[in-house]
Amino acid sequence: MFGVIPKTMWSKATPPDERNRIQLSMRPLVVRGARTMLIDAGMGDKESEKFHDIYGVERRPHHLDHSLAEAGLAPEDIEIVLASHLHFDHAGGFTIRDANGRLRPRFPRAQYIVRRGEWEDATHPTVRTRASYLLDNYLPLAEAGVLQLVDDDQTIMPGVRVRRTGGHTPHHQMILMESGGKTAAFVADLIPTTAHLPDVWVMGYDLFPIDSMAAKSRFVAEAIEKNMLVFFEHDPTLAAGYLREENGRRTATPA
Ligand SMILES: [Zn+2]
Repeated sequence: MFGVIPKTMWSKATPPDERNRIQLSMRPLVVRGARTMLIDAGMGDKESEKFHDIYGVERRPHHLDHSLAEAGLAPEDIEIVLASHLHFDHAGGFTIRDANGRLRPRFPRAQYIVRRGEWEDATHPTVRTRASYLLDNYLPLAEAGVLQLVDDDQTIMPGVRVRRTGGHTPHHQMILMESGGKTAAFVADLIPTTAHLPDVWVMGYDLFPIDSMAAKSRFVAEAIEKNMLVFFEHDPTLAAGYLREENGRRTATPA
């Protein structure tokens, strides 16, 4: 999760377990506006026990259905599912395996919105990317006719727009939301946790780390200037905060 940063440094920020794993969350975001939207959907329920053991997956007490229920929502209420990108820890929850073993969209009434470049990369995985791109998570969306591809930065629904960051994947995008004169940003893997606030704390998963650093540097300056509320999808404790920078040190103040 920390690329070239030495363990002696990152282990102070996030202590690993005996198998060298650290605590991370997978925290999708519900957006209520003109329509009800879900951004990303965690890793879903389709993977093997071995897979769950490798990653130490814990889904209690915050299984996605329970978290939606806490927000007063059922899967049928979601009208738009928007993807930051298609790695399994973001898109795994897009599909479900039914009682007959068939794969189908998990949100029966939703349109799924994906960036076209990300779709192209995810449906043509390479030796470098195929551990993260699992076709069962998104091919059934195209087969079910619920997939909508978007080409450029644009408004998805009033007050909600996408912006390409690149870096993590060439077409990784963040989501900007405006309401009541305030702006929030769901930055996905641009800044997965608050430990990743410094420019050079970039994940080894990132395909183009130099692009990640440049995009992060630009975004952090903008977020501070506009006092944006920033969501950290993978942070184990802080869901969202406001960024500050003092004497070159960046922090996130809990919302
Ligand atoms: Zn991720």
